[in-house]
Amino acid sequence: MELDQTKIPQATAKRLPLYYRFLENLQASGKHRVSSSELSDAVKVDSATIRRDFSYFGALGKKGYGYNVNYLLTFFRKTLDQDELAKVILVGVGNLGTAFLNYNFTKSNNTKIVMAFDVDETKVGQNIGSVPIYHLNEIPEQVGEDIEVAILTVPAHAAQNIADQLIALGVKGILNFTPARLSVPEDVRIHHIDLSVELQSLIYFLRHYPI
Ligand code: ATP
Repeated sequence: MELDQTKIPQATAKRLPLYYRFLENLQASGKHRVSSSELSDAVKVDSATIRRDFSYFGALGKKGYGYNVNYLLTFFRKTLDQDELAKVILVGVGNLGTAFLNYNFTKSNNTKIVMAFDVDETKVGQNIGSVPIYHLNEIPEQVGEDIEVAILTVPAHAAQNIADQLIALGVKGILNFTPARLSVPEDVRIHHIDLSVELQSLIYFLRHYPI
């Protein structure tokens, strides 16, 4: 079946990696089918939402059978472009940046950090997790058209300037781990992850909205 990706709502698209990872594990453990309630328990999304999400892929669960795992994985791979390796760069090889370089993203999806940048001369020229670290000044010569996504783990005050440089070189998506709010053109997508805000918000919800 042909998949029209423009018809998939953003909220559904955001849940895809979650479904994908769980289904891959199921397949690896030899399971060929899964019910929406089983999925719901595992990924913590209610089963009505799962059924609605899956209907966008033409995957209709059968009563008493559930969903075919291989069928779903085939569609998810296509949708998530799992077959095409996405090359990512990282700027700021501090504690957080170093952890990302050591983390093997390719294990669970087809993304790879191919190079990193920093201003600290003791870090420049090193490799961490087989990723080479270049000086920030080298961004224009190193970042080619094949780089669409960047991870920012620099101090907040440096973030906007670096984002501007990367966008001028064609970067279209930034995963921003700094507390800085970035101003970017409309065609650039920023996903902002402020770990301390996330943690604070989790604690707030635990205290004020106990499950
Ligand atoms: P983290 O916040 O990741 O725990 P940290 O506390 O080790 O890091 P930070 O001061 O946040 O250190 O800096 C993160 C990294 O960003 C450091 O390696 C630092 O050298 C680098 N850095 C600082 N300024 C810039 C800049 N303008 N461009 C690129 N990298 C920078």
